[in-house]
Amino acid sequence: MLNINTLLLDFRITSYCNLGCDLCFRNPGIEDQSTENALKILDKMYQVGFRRVGFTGGEPTTRKDFLTLIEHAKQLGFMTYLSTVGHRFVMDYERLNGILDWVGIPIDGIEKETNSDIRSEKMGNQHRVVKDILTWLTHSDNKINIKLTTVVSQTNVHQISDIVRWINSFSYKVQSWRFYQFCPLGVGKEKRDKLEIDTDLFIKTMEQTKAEFPDLPLSWATFEERDKANVVMEPNFDVIIPDGENYTYLCNMEKDTPETIIHNIFGQPEIMNKCENNRFWLDEMEFVS
Ligand code: SF4
Repeated sequence: MLNINTLLLDFRITSYCNLGCDLCFRNPGIEDQSTENALKILDKMYQVGFRRVGFTGGEPTTRKDFLTLIEHAKQLGFMTYLSTVGHRFVMDYERLNGILDWVGIPIDGIEKETNSDIRSEKMGNQHRVVKDILTWLTHSDNKINIKLTTVVSQTNVHQISDIVRWINSFSYKVQSWRFYQFCPLGVGKEKRDKLEIDTDLFIKTMEQTKAEFPDLPLSWATFEERDKANVVMEPNFDVIIPDGENYTYLCNMEKDTPETIIHNIFGQPEIMNKCENNRFWLDEMEFVS
């Protein structure tokens, strides 16, 4: 069972992002905290006993201090994870290599039309971004575990095999690749008619893809399996979990006592069980920083 040492707490360091994806499940419009407060909250998390932190958003790299926050987390002793579109990854790589354990980067299509439809025009070239990163990593002294994420929706469900084949044609091999059934949460709730897919179709597609590429680290989660399966701290330090099509409040990392935080997060075995299943890949690190 997960405990405070092994649960990855997703810290949404900002709710800002201007990429406008239709599938986005963030809660927009929550104001960012100062660098000082964000550093203090990392200290508090560590004091409470957390040892794994994920930096997410919004797009976390839009915060000018995101590298400072990751550096601080690593100095404290956290396992660090960054969820980003990857547009700055190569630029920031020198500072990230050695302080970042995992990076998660999205790939939902290998054509501009697919990326634009499931995400936005601004994300139309995301497949090129991923290709550039994987090609570049082949020639680097990389110590960051790479995780790709694909949201499976009506738009790309019949292209999954092609996407995997394309990525597999590059010589760099990623450490994990997670496929998620589209979840109508946050901003994405308004696009459910366009993107939502049947659970049986999702599972069948993923089983076929795994059978086609048995040696790749492919894994997946349905909407139901992701529900209540990650603990998120908003930019205002409210700690929440996805619960159906909404988020449920658990506690506030700044204001509440360590006892309340631990009780409200870890007091529900069902949540811990689902979080563990959703994040099993974290322990499959090739590189340890
Ligand atoms: S899904 Fe990610 S990249 Fe797209 S709008 Fe939301 S936060 Fe930005």
